[in-house]
Amino acid sequence: MTHDMARNDLLAFEAAQPVNFWRADPHLQQILRHWVGATPFASWEHHLDAFGAETAGPIDAAVRRNNLGHNLPREERWSPYGERMEEVEHHPSFHLAGRGIYAGGVIPAVAKRGNNAKALALFYLSSHVGEAGHNCPLACTAGLIKALREIGSTELQDRYMPRLTSTDYATLAHGGQFLTEVQGGSDVGANTVRAVPTGAANMWELHGEKWFCSNVTADLILVTARPDDAPSGTKGLGLFLMPRRLPDGSLNSYSIRRLKDKIGTRTLPTAELDLNGAMAHQVGPLDSGFRNMMTYVINTSRVFNAVGCAGMAHRACLVGQGYAAHRRSFGAPILHYPLVQETLADMQSETRAMVSGIFYLVHVLDRIERGEANAIEQHFWRVGINLNKTRNAISSHEVILSALELLGGNGTIETFSVVPRLLRDNVVFENWEGSHNTLLMQVLRDCQVKKMHQSFFQHLLQQAQGHARLTEVLITTRDDFDVAIKGDQALATLNMRFFGSRMAWLQWAAAMHQDGTERRTVDHFLNRRFAETAPHDLDYLQRVKELVMASNST
Ligand SMILES: Cc1cc2nc3c(=O)[nH]c(=O)nc-3n(C[C@H](O)[C@H](O)[C@H](O)COP(=O)(O)OP(=O)(O)OC[C@H]3O[C@@H](n4cnc5c(N)ncnc54)[C@H](O)[C@@H]3O)c2cc1C
Repeated sequence: MTHDMARNDLLAFEAAQPVNFWRADPHLQQILRHWVGATPFASWEHHLDAFGAETAGPIDAAVRRNNLGHNLPREERWSPYGERMEEVEHHPSFHLAGRGIYAGGVIPAVAKRGNNAKALALFYLSSHVGEAGHNCPLACTAGLIKALREIGSTELQDRYMPRLTSTDYATLAHGGQFLTEVQGGSDVGANTVRAVPTGAANMWELHGEKWFCSNVTADLILVTARPDDAPSGTKGLGLFLMPRRLPDGSLNSYSIRRLKDKIGTRTLPTAELDLNGAMAHQVGPLDSGFRNMMTYVINTSRVFNAVGCAGMAHRACLVGQGYAAHRRSFGAPILHYPLVQETLADMQSETRAMVSGIFYLVHVLDRIERGEANAIEQHFWRVGINLNKTRNAISSHEVILSALELLGGNGTIETFSVVPRLLRDNVVFENWEGSHNTLLMQVLRDCQVKKMHQSFFQHLLQQAQGHARLTEVLITTRDDFDVAIKGDQALATLNMRFFGSRMAWLQWAAAMHQDGTERRTVDHFLNRRFAETAPHDLDYLQRVKELVMASNST
């Protein structure tokens, strides 16, 4: 094979990349049709199809450009005339991507109660281009909207909702959420930023330092802070809405220390910040600040985060599959080698499982928001989302890393494909909105104190009916988990990584069994995650080949 032939193969790979991420995902289409029903699905399809083309076309191109080292954001704290600006300067490609992403309509969709499936399907498509500098702000804005919708005063809703739900990039308002301080992100109860009453109704001044502030130039920011007479720990944290600009147009009293130089999500400006008496509105009762932040904001971010990881994993599958079909080695496309087929089969089944699992949880969330869910579903959701937040990020990491390996040396090159950036963005997703251990500890507490695992397994056993193997593994895992969490506490903690992964995988498998995912994908997934004990046989070789070749022809 000559140089030219090899180069032509690479060009053919690039040319064969999907031009529409929605059309490239019949599995997502199947899941949504199943859970939301044929009529709503039909009314959304055109919208998702159009956004699928935008994300795979102009948005992807703009994000790639924006991520080049010389196009990254930089802080512009002062104007040429010495006025305080606290601005971030972006390359034009950042705004090009932003216009397309906001026009996609995630935010107006999520603003409607019980409409998360549509919003998150759009967000999943948008996450095919990585975090892109705008997907984290979308998640923050969604959480802010839900908090204002559920606990904001009519005055705050009237003042801010119209701009928050707009899709006009030039005039819309977007959100941020600043909790983390240098002494701890997981340990939010250690927050020391002070809230001081101004004397005006529900108005406070915020003083202190925040350590991780993404989308630092957001128009509206939810901040946790502690009034001087409040108790220690999370109980003493109030929730405040800090506008970037005051009603007279002047800048609120905070200053950027510096932008952080991050491994991933590099076009999203994340800063360290000083609050110098910044004016902020109280949102909800003071003594429920942390609970409200968790319920409406962090839980929303966790769903967005888990869906985002699934979107990035699916993009990695598309790249890996396309490359394997075009790259020749030892005289044949690498797709024909059994080890490559197995890698692709694992990437695909893990990603489909993840997508089925998280979109089932989104469906349950819609039922909760519409007041249709029973107590079992509510507990199931709470355990499920914390497990998905942690497991989706780990599985997505594995899938993206497999894609990188499939691309060989080219996989490591930033300008060759989106894969290295997906990997770097994914590392940040693993940390955001709760690190793995924090999430697992939350699940353990919920199961030990409130016995939520009983609802979790009960719900899954109902879903697994008709699949004997899945039912059997569910029962064994339920019984083992029940014993583990009643024993030695340190050992119960240590075993959470083992049980957390298995419980998430079982939730995904049960969702696939329900939503019509083809049986061979469900079974491959279960076999790989629950029964790797002996060398493979010819049957396995054939099954892997069929799985991969079937997807390659769609
Ligand atoms: C790029 C980026 C942007 C971010 N943007 C924001 C933002 O906009 N707003 C915001 O509020 N925050 C933001 N964060 C902060 C993020 O939410 C925190 O980093 C995260 O919650 C972890 O907190 P930490 O960094 O203090 O780690 P720590 O809490 O110090 O944790 C360090 C390690 O110890 C482990 N650990 C901690 N406690 C326990 C325990 N009890 N048991 C077992 N293990 C434990 C953790 O799992 C972790 O592995 C951002 C982070 C990143 C990386």
